[in-house]
Amino acid sequence: MKIAFFDTKPYDKTWTVPLSAQYGYEIKFFEHKLNVDTAALTKGYDVVCAFVNDTLSSDVIDILYNMGVKLIAMRCAGYNNVDFKSAYNKINVVRVPSYSPHSVAEHAAALMLSLNRKIHRAYGRTRDNNFSINGLMGIDLNGKTAGIVGTGKIGQVFLGICKGFGMKTIAYDPYPVDNPDFEYVSLNNLFELSDIISLHCPLTPETKHLVNADRLARMKPEALLINTSRGALVNTHALIEALRASKIGGAGLDVYEEEEEYFFEDFSNEVLIDDDLARLLSFPNVLITSHQGFFTREAMQEIAAVTMKNIHAFENGETLENEVCYRCGTACVKKEGHKRCF
Ligand code: NAD
Repeated sequence: MKIAFFDTKPYDKTWTVPLSAQYGYEIKFFEHKLNVDTAALTKGYDVVCAFVNDTLSSDVIDILYNMGVKLIAMRCAGYNNVDFKSAYNKINVVRVPSYSPHSVAEHAAALMLSLNRKIHRAYGRTRDNNFSINGLMGIDLNGKTAGIVGTGKIGQVFLGICKGFGMKTIAYDPYPVDNPDFEYVSLNNLFELSDIISLHCPLTPETKHLVNADRLARMKPEALLINTSRGALVNTHALIEALRASKIGGAGLDVYEEEEEYFFEDFSNEVLIDDDLARLLSFPNVLITSHQGFFTREAMQEIAAVTMKNIHAFENGETLENEVCYRCGTACVKKEGHKRCF
């Protein structure tokens, strides 16, 4: 199999190169993101391996199909950047549904703790020989309420972490788990009752801008919003307005609505053109990381291993356990015992 990896960094090669040698696969690592301008580079490749900020729109999928690509192997869990309807009956799409829910949940916890105790500001101060603690007061998390939106794999790990801090946990999910050891509430109640709100649901047409001006207005004035899921779950303009008006306590963001342009790249010598990102970075009570929730050794190892297994299963005509299509969950033929979605 010839595999074209897009949007790659040196750390993507660490586990992939030795594994691909074991499988006998030939890999070309492209630093460019996959989009309409770069899609033609896939000529002669069987598989395209893409990541969270690659564009797999209808145009791109048509180009890949015409170039002979048979499989799109997403090396991530989320797949909101794939036009599944266009891929259906043309190119199979697989992903890595679960690599380490701990990696993302622990990063959400890191954002929560840092933001609450203002570690990001304390670090800057002490590096500058400023040992004043004025303005750095936080709250005890013990006894406070954590509201978790989405109780899947990552949300449940985050719930457990919050319980470990002695927090009360409430959650919202349209598909609740059986016998939960936490309380499900409505989404609006969750926003009203929580001291920490953490988003752990996928980005879909239904969840886009789930955090809007109305929901932000329902939050307690000291409450913190943590988003490690997808940027477009939050309406950025509404968030900026809420922060400007001190309607909420702060935001810890590992993802951003328009992150494709900036995240994972070094712009430290350039002027930031994105005014919304610049405004968010200007708030003392906003902590932004660059989509690094997944970035632990264990997660990277697992991503490489599952990606190679997915490709191997495709090559050998085996059941594609990790395939996804737009009919999955409804009328997908895989549910009837077929090996593939089409
Ligand atoms: P999962 O599929 O196990 O869980 C998602 C949960 O969201 C499910 O329980 C589902 O029922 C729920 N959900 C669906 N629609 C919802 C809605 N409208 N409101 C509330 N909940 C809803 O997924 P996961 O592995 O826990 O991952 C969650 C998200 O984390 C992914 O979709 C992805 O966007 C994000 N993620 C981020 C990183 C990162 O590096 N920051 C890494 C991996 C995943």
